[in-house]
Amino acid sequence: MTQCDLSDRRLPGVLVRRVPHADLVPLVFDSPHSGTVYPDGFTPLLSREELLSTADLFVGELFENAPAKGAVLIEALFPRAFVDPNRSLDDLDPSLLATPWPHPLAPSEKSTLGKGLIWRVNAALKPIYGRSLSVEEVEGRIDGYWRPYHRTLDETMDALWARFGSAWHVNCHSMKSRTTAQDAEGPGHARVDIVLSDRDGQTCDRAFLEVAHEALRAEGLSVAINTPFKGAELVRRQGRPAEGRHALQIEFNRRLHLDEATLQKNERHPILHAMVDRLIDRLAAFCREQV
Ligand SMILES: [Zn+2]
Repeated sequence: MTQCDLSDRRLPGVLVRRVPHADLVPLVFDSPHSGTVYPDGFTPLLSREELLSTADLFVGELFENAPAKGAVLIEALFPRAFVDPNRSLDDLDPSLLATPWPHPLAPSEKSTLGKGLIWRVNAALKPIYGRSLSVEEVEGRIDGYWRPYHRTLDETMDALWARFGSAWHVNCHSMKSRTTAQDAEGPGHARVDIVLSDRDGQTCDRAFLEVAHEALRAEGLSVAINTPFKGAELVRRQGRPAEGRHALQIEFNRRLHLDEATLQKNERHPILHAMVDRLIDRLAAFCREQV
């Protein structure tokens, strides 16, 4: 089997793409928020621990066996608080900047909450910066990190689609175990184990979502669909089911593998890792059946 024009890619500090060596299946997992490598010049006010609470720690590691199972894995290495690949380029809070932004601007509710393209506060609502950012440094984050991440995902999906006629993308995240002050229902409510999202049916065929849903329910996990998360920029850009391009977002409750106080893996991490291995197997089998 040819490998299309896919190969491993390492952009230091930016991303890693790992491509299977055999039995390629048109399935891509990406982890945009598990990066912890501080870029040069990134000097937030917050301590490393305070900033890491915004990360989806170890989510890339949960999917580390994807290439051995025939799927591609893309992981961001930079912190999501530095620039968030899961936000659109115009979702920028202009109050972060010292001077007017010279590009299109359409801040969403996420920017209002401090969680836009450039995060203004961490999960505890503490300010990340003690100064305004320059237009040049925000442009540098976009050109040096956001664009290469999206370009790599775009090229991967394009190559798989060209080879197989269809391609499937799973965008992987984790969520705090309880709601926060920024949630509509207020803080402190326990969240379900898993949230699957396809922007209310817009980004993938229902059959793909259902395969994931059934596989996770068979593990004894509680699964919600499109609530409270509907999916954001990465699945929005990749998901065009009418063209055979499918994108599904998955959120894992952090209590399933993380001690949220210490930010270390907990004793349940190996259990979740094995569940994710079985999920990858099931999704890869589905994709093989479709092409
Ligand atoms: Zn995330």
